[in-house]
Amino acid sequence: MKKVLLPQKIRDEGMDVLKGKVELVIAPDPSQDTVAELIKDVQGVILRTTSAITREMIASAPQLEVISRTGVGVDNIDVGAASEHGVMVCNLPGVNSISVAEHAVALIVALAKTLPYFDHEVRKGNWKSRNAYRSGELYQKTLGIIGFGRIGSYVASIMGKGFGMNILAYDPYLSHAGDSELKVTFCELEELLAAADVVSVHLPATSDTKGLLNKERLKLLKPSAYFINTARGSVVDESALVELLQAGKIAGAGLDVFEEEPVAMDHPFATLDNVILSPHAAALTKECVVRAAVEAAEAVIDVFAGREPKHLYNKAALKRG
Ligand code: NAD
Repeated sequence: MKKVLLPQKIRDEGMDVLKGKVELVIAPDPSQDTVAELIKDVQGVILRTTSAITREMIASAPQLEVISRTGVGVDNIDVGAASEHGVMVCNLPGVNSISVAEHAVALIVALAKTLPYFDHEVRKGNWKSRNAYRSGELYQKTLGIIGFGRIGSYVASIMGKGFGMNILAYDPYLSHAGDSELKVTFCELEELLAAADVVSVHLPATSDTKGLLNKERLKLLKPSAYFINTARGSVVDESALVELLQAGKIAGAGLDVFEEEPVAMDHPFATLDNVILSPHAAALTKECVVRAAVEAAEAVIDVFAGREPKHLYNKAALKRG
């Protein structure tokens, strides 16, 4: 029976897919040393985020056929080395799109409806906070989506169709929405920032997007605008964002991702009551972790059965090799 290494356990539903079909090698801890030792005589690995599979590990594992990620990113795998050794790398594009999009929507709605403020005031006994008229409507306001991929387009769909928001999008690689029922106006980034009542960032972290939302660009936001980032901290100049929030030059922010994670307890974000924070948890819904475990396990079973897995990340490189 072929062996599959789990540097970290996956959800039971994923384990059930593997049971009886493969021999499970569950690492006692996910440290690099432990994984490096155990990988030497397995045929498959199911990888979460804590461990990294390096070139040396791949070279030391002559029977290895497949490394299956329980998520989208493959930055903890030396994909080049895997391809050179004929090892399939599988990932799960789109597995967390719904979770992350819903999280972005939750941040938008919570900010617009000032839910953290009301919750805090009611608990303090300040019922009169209802007369502060702080909350607002989203209907017919403008939502600017930066990066109109799987997550960005789903946020646009929920907010456009469900809340009646007008949608602007900036994505240099796209010119139409791909959903004829949703009206989306593609425009330049600066135009979007200046016009939007809510801006939601859904960019990948690349050398092109690093610091894309710099001080000059963030200054274009309206004082009434909300800024949402569930993508990556590196795409935003955080100190510029803090300055604008502190000065009341934008109305608020909803942030799931940060330049440095975990975000420090004394970070200025944590002192601002117009900011909602979450701990890079947008993708970590109950449903998503189960789906990811099951699909990552199925990919390994597919490879062992000689079937092409649904998402073979290094397909092109393997074909060339
Ligand atoms: P995707 O690849 O489907 O979409 C990304 C979009 O960004 C694409 O349409 C692409 O054309 C566009 N893009 C690329 N470079 C750009 C640029 N320089 N300017 C403007 N647009 C650009 O990815 P996705 O599944 O929608 O995920 C988006 C991002 O969300 C991921 O890259 C990841 O960083 C982040 N994410 C966060 C979490 C979380 O837990 N918070 C979970 C999953 C993904």
